[in-house]
Amino acid sequence: MKIHTQFAPGKPLFSFEFFPPKTEEGEAQLFRTLHILKPLQPAFVSVTYGAGGSARGKTVEWVERIKREVGLEVMAHLTCVGATREEIGEVLEQLRQVGAENLMAVRGDPPKGQREFRPVEGGFRYASELVAFIRERYGDAFSIAGGAYPEGHPECTSLEADLHNLKHKVDAGLDFLVTQLFFNNALYLGFVERARRVGIEVPIVPGLMPITNLAQVRRFTEMCGASLPVPLLAQLEKFADDPQAVLEIGVEHTTRQALELLEVGAPGIHFYTLNKSPATRWVVENLRSRVRAL
Ligand SMILES: Cc1cc2nc3c(=O)[nH]c(=O)nc-3n(C[C@H](O)[C@H](O)[C@H](O)COP(=O)(O)OP(=O)(O)OC[C@H]3O[C@@H](n4cnc5c(N)ncnc54)[C@H](O)[C@@H]3O)c2cc1C
Repeated sequence: MKIHTQFAPGKPLFSFEFFPPKTEEGEAQLFRTLHILKPLQPAFVSVTYGAGGSARGKTVEWVERIKREVGLEVMAHLTCVGATREEIGEVLEQLRQVGAENLMAVRGDPPKGQREFRPVEGGFRYASELVAFIRERYGDAFSIAGGAYPEGHPECTSLEADLHNLKHKVDAGLDFLVTQLFFNNALYLGFVERARRVGIEVPIVPGLMPITNLAQVRRFTEMCGASLPVPLLAQLEKFADDPQAVLEIGVEHTTRQALELLEVGAPGIHFYTLNKSPATRWVVENLRSRVRAL
């Protein structure tokens, strides 16, 4: 099932993102998480794409396993990092063979120790080139999503330039966008408004991450350039030594964010789960008890 065909007014979709685990224990945890979250009937789950080497094949493997062993619709992430167009073409063939119909096409971050993204010879510099390549080779065989940044991509020279580049990426053949995580809805709403003004018409799904750990969220926000609202940060700092309190604050914040976003017509919510179930399950259950269409 192609994900973009499922968007409909008044029928928000929600989805869960996972990363391919590196250890046997991590694999067992991901399966546990998948089986706990499956009864919530997500529209799809997504599997991220590792930066290099053996991690790459893991995405294809997990897409296949989740489809076959868990029975959920899956979106495979794919990046341009360290790969030529031929190598990316091979991954796309593997994804086709395991029945994948949904892709999240992103550029990827520069490898560790490298400040700037440098494409390999014969590779792609921007996600828009990857999207154009997939469309050229496969037409409409895949539903393709791309990344969007309500606070601007960390490398962008200005919000206007970033939006211009995003429009170019959408025009290359994206069916919908999923945002980087954010903790202040005004950022998403302003971003959607600006995107519509420059003619970006595809659904823009907000990406939310329930906070479960202060040190971790600090690390993530620093990495991806998302900001933490001062009152939320102060509240988390006050209870930093109490994991249950941090979880409750995180769940409450994400629940409020999601409710408001759904109220104003967001097409769905994509949850960054970090392969764990409790916080995401709690938020979705909160939403289900308050939003009829879910
Ligand atoms: C929903 C989501 C999922 C993700 N999944 C993964 C994953 O699985 N694996 C992973 O490694 N990373 C993932 N990322 C992170 C992503 O790879 C990084 O944020 C990366 O730095 C940018 O990827 P992009 O596809 O947005 O890049 P692009 O759209 O190529 O943009 C990158 C930068 O280049 C600029 N730019 C774009 N086009 C042009 C142009 N023509 N001329 C000049 N400048 C231009 C943009 O403004 C931006 O600053 C994900 C991000 C999101 C939001």
